[in-house]
Amino acid sequence: MVPTTHGTEKIAASLASNTCACGAGKPPGRSFCRMCSYDLHPRLRGQLTKRNMGEGYEEAHRAALAKLVELKRVTPDEAARSGL
Ligand SMILES: [Zn+2]
Repeated sequence: MVPTTHGTEKIAASLASNTCACGAGKPPGRSFCRMCSYDLHPRLRGQLTKRNMGEGYEEAHRAALAKLVELKRVTPDEAARSGL
C-alpha cells in the first residue's frame, strides 16, 4: 500500500475538534458525534480510535466520511474540510 499524507493534518484537526463533520458537537478525541458514529459499521467504528493514528486511522476516517456523505449526514464540502 502506498502511504499517503494527503489530508492527515485535517484529519488530526478534525479529531481534536469539538465539532463533528456534520456540524453537531462532539467530544474532542472522538472522530464523530454520537449520531454519525451510530450510522457507521461497528467494524469501521472500531478502527476509529486515536491509537490507530498512522496505523489505518486515516483510511478508516476517510471511509467513514465517504459513508456519511452517502447517507447524506455530511455534505461533500463538509467531508472535504474534515480530510476526505
Ligand atoms: Zn456528526
